[in-house]
Amino acid sequence: MTDALKTKTAPEGEKALKPLSRAEALARVKADPLWDVVVVGGGATGAGIAVDAASRGLSTLLLDAQDFSAGTSSRSTKLIHGGVRYMKNPRDWGLVTEALHERKVLINNAPHLVHPETFVLPCFKKWEREIYTVGLALYDMMAGKASLGRTKSLKADAAAARLPGVRTEGLMGGVEFFDGQFDDARLNIALIRTANQHGAACLNYMPVTAIERTGGWIQSLTATDKETGESCRIRTRMIFNCTGVWTDSIRRMVDPDAPSIVRCSRGSHILLDRSFLPGDSGMLIPKTRDGRVLFCIPWHGMTIVGTTDVEQREPDWNPQATEEEISFLLETAAGYLAKPVSRADVKASFAGLRPLLRAPEGGSTAKARASMRSFPNSAT
Ligand SMILES: Cc1cc2nc3c(=O)[nH]c(=O)nc-3n(C[C@H](O)[C@H](O)[C@H](O)COP(=O)(O)OP(=O)(O)OC[C@H]3O[C@@H](n4cnc5c(N)ncnc54)[C@H](O)[C@@H]3O)c2cc1C
Repeated sequence: MTDALKTKTAPEGEKALKPLSRAEALARVKADPLWDVVVVGGGATGAGIAVDAASRGLSTLLLDAQDFSAGTSSRSTKLIHGGVRYMKNPRDWGLVTEALHERKVLINNAPHLVHPETFVLPCFKKWEREIYTVGLALYDMMAGKASLGRTKSLKADAAAARLPGVRTEGLMGGVEFFDGQFDDARLNIALIRTANQHGAACLNYMPVTAIERTGGWIQSLTATDKETGESCRIRTRMIFNCTGVWTDSIRRMVDPDAPSIVRCSRGSHILLDRSFLPGDSGMLIPKTRDGRVLFCIPWHGMTIVGTTDVEQREPDWNPQATEEEISFLLETAAGYLAKPVSRADVKASFAGLRPLLRAPEGGSTAKARASMRSFPNSAT
């Protein structure tokens, strides 16, 4: 390891390490050091690993093919939650408890980017209020000290008052509960900057194009600077493949015959005017016709409605919501909103691809997701 590459966290009282510019990071790469860690992918997973590695004093290089966070990590439903939908299966409660704890850690660590949010689940059937109150009270209890507020059962008038914009005709009541909301892309960039401050070199527009093996061990990889077209060989002790839905393409750089382990499920969202849900609370629609939950959430002066779950054959750098998905979101939301909503009300749409573990026997994306319990972030 060259001296220039010895990355240490700044001891207390000393000035923090100066973040590297792109040119400086490139110069480091060109100096051909042996990196302790190379992280491929600058989404939430890669950025988190880079912070961890660099803050342990390991020389760390992070490479992304496009902008940091341009993949799934800027295309989420913007929730930091324990996963209410997982409450229905007690086998998933361990995952929910862990995620609820992490929710509080994130709120404490980045209060400017992650905040508690009130949600109301409107009930149009008599039994729904009791059932969902019990489920959501349990959800809150599982948070323990990390609770963001107590779940409350609401009568119809209170539910309508807490959730302006909800359809009041036939409304039997509601359940108020608390969860977290965040700015996914900004949190991702904050992590990249933190890694950078700990001495990691982080380069975007620098796709990994080949991985070289010697004697059965990965010794180096090749990355190409998209700005200049120049390729460089990078030596490393360890590679983390954090490329989400592109995981297979990296694995096949090592073994062209490697079986696929990841499949993509597209989740789309639409943005409506804030007037459809003008209050400060989000709405949880507990069951769509394909058995999912749907969120309508205040977001930068708009309302986000999402999401869907549609199998997609191949990864896509810029996935798009289809007209069918937009109709499904509008149709589902219309059943819960007081104001009539149509295609003309859709201001924008965006879609993200969930990297799902491919179930060996095939089967539904929901089944594949159930087998990915160790990846709570992929569960929304
Ligand atoms: C519709 C939807 C809604 C979601 N909602 C939520 C939510 O509300 N809350 C939540 O916590 N989670 C949510 N998730 C899950 C969460 O967004 C993902 O788990 C997370 O973003 C995955 O991050 P990642 O870093 O693994 O992948 P990505 O963000 O996709 O990052 C992978 C990166 O790898 C890079 N890459 C690919 N190939 C190469 C290469 N050859 N060389 C270099 N770089 C490469 C890509 O450019 C990309 O930046 C949602 C997911 C979806 C799809």
